[in-house]
Amino acid sequence: MHVVWLKRDLRIDDHAPLAEAARRSHEDGVPMIALYVFEPEVWQAPDADASHLAFVVESLAELAAELEQRGGRLIRRFGEMTEVLAQLSRECAIDTLLSHEETGNAVTYARDLRVARWCTRNGVRLREFRQHGVFRPNPSRDGWAARWESHMRGPRAAVPTRFVSPSATIVADGDAGLWQELGLGEDTRATLRQRGGSREAAANLRSFLLERGRNYRTTMGSPELAWESCSRLSPHLAWGTMSVRRAYQGARRRLAELAELEQTGAIAHDDAVAWNGSIRSMISRLSWHCHFIQKLEDEPAIESSCMARATESLRSEGDPAIAAARLVAWQEGRTGYPMIDACMRALVATGWINFRMRAMLVSFASHHLWLDWRSFAPWLGRQFLDYEPGIHYPQVQMQSATTGINTVRIYSPRKQVEDHDPHGTFIRRWVPELARVPDEFLSEPETTPPLLQTMIGCRIGVEYPEPIVTHREAYRDAQERIFALRATPASRAEARAVFVKHGSRKRHR
Ligand SMILES: Cc1cc2nc3c(=O)[nH]c(=O)nc-3n(C[C@H](O)[C@H](O)[C@H](O)COP(=O)(O)OP(=O)(O)OC[C@H]3O[C@@H](n4cnc5c(N)ncnc54)[C@H](O)[C@@H]3O)c2cc1C
Repeated sequence: MHVVWLKRDLRIDDHAPLAEAARRSHEDGVPMIALYVFEPEVWQAPDADASHLAFVVESLAELAAELEQRGGRLIRRFGEMTEVLAQLSRECAIDTLLSHEETGNAVTYARDLRVARWCTRNGVRLREFRQHGVFRPNPSRDGWAARWESHMRGPRAAVPTRFVSPSATIVADGDAGLWQELGLGEDTRATLRQRGGSREAAANLRSFLLERGRNYRTTMGSPELAWESCSRLSPHLAWGTMSVRRAYQGARRRLAELAELEQTGAIAHDDAVAWNGSIRSMISRLSWHCHFIQKLEDEPAIESSCMARATESLRSEGDPAIAAARLVAWQEGRTGYPMIDACMRALVATGWINFRMRAMLVSFASHHLWLDWRSFAPWLGRQFLDYEPGIHYPQVQMQSATTGINTVRIYSPRKQVEDHDPHGTFIRRWVPELARVPDEFLSEPETTPPLLQTMIGCRIGVEYPEPIVTHREAYRDAQERIFALRATPASRAEARAVFVKHGSRKRHR
């Protein structure tokens, strides 16, 4: 049989391995199955979370029904990948293993190499297809944007109308229920997170392009407004319930439709301008998606090594006990900085926060608390329902100033309150201790007069923590250390090399 191995591509639309297996089956009469394997080594890694698993399980349930409607079968198994393949091949000989290329973490990278060796040893043909606009191999960063654009404009792999399934008895859910025993605990975000499945993905794209997205460009920075105005496609792109190409083509179609609507006067000029700007911004972010993943694809070591090796020792000194206490305060949203605490608590509860606030959270951990990014990156990945290693690690490094090439951005958590939540709607929702603190003290609650603190039930140091560090001092120290390192000839030379390998030839955030 032909086996389509599903990984982070849990969809039927624009799925090249499924389309190719279906085509071959019809041609050579060899039946096919789709296979998903719950691999303990993947799900017990420090970056895996119960909410990720729940999203995958939901998506698989929908996909199984889609396949069945077309005569196909989804087989779910539990175990180490090559052992599962060995077992499966005893049940029915495997002719070809088809899958998407995955740019994953070190665990899936090593696993893919093992699977390739297993296929060679066992005479199984292995066919891998490009997923999204990430190139393997990537000849150079020059011309990357044009290659990406051409992939996105290309035809989507058609949804097969009929699958040929094997007549042999293959257990559909062989030990699959064991995923519940992976030790991940319960999905604590179950009620507030996004749901899995391609139908949800399509509904999100539609509502973004037709209803929610008008003010995306101007509101994406606000933790309160971004919840509705951003596309919220990220978990779907990360777990593959929608391809980037489908999102891209949907957005392009909407741009064409808007142009027509404006020409016929069916939409006001102001609306057309706002929609246009927002959809174009979203399209550029779809290219960032692949631009960032390409970095990990080209240099897998950046999951655990600084992109600019000269910055390896930047945060190596300091008292480990202080660092450990700071890390816990940050993770629990108890730093004494309202915007940091609100964003962290919102993220932990829902699995999502907007880009700007993610950047601020990492900047605060790396610069204000002077924590090594490796001490929190896997944990932070667990909090994001859209965890995508290829975006996550390069972004964490960028916000931690360890890439050597990006502008050093140290966010002021005070200013973020003034700019994005001046009336404290968002902060008060997530940090109820601050519910009665007047607006004027909200960015620095420790300046609330002591008598007022008692009257409103928010005594600093009792109900709400003192600021964990002093913003000005922490900001100045971080800047001095980073710029001193960047000024060395070795750092400059390295920065040039990093740019050649990974740098965007356009401007990216
Ligand atoms: C420290 C840090 C870690 C991050 N980790 C992840 C991650 O693990 N997975 C992830 O999908 N995104 C990550 N991002 C990028 C970004 O924050 C999210 O993609 C975005 O907030 C998701 O919301 P959305 O789908 O509504 O995005 P929209 O703004 O609607 O954008 C549409 C799509 O474009 C892509 N995109 C948007 N912004 C970026 C960006 N800055 N870089 C790369 N791709 C982008 C995403 O796929 C997103 O779904 C991270 C950002 C930071 C600062």
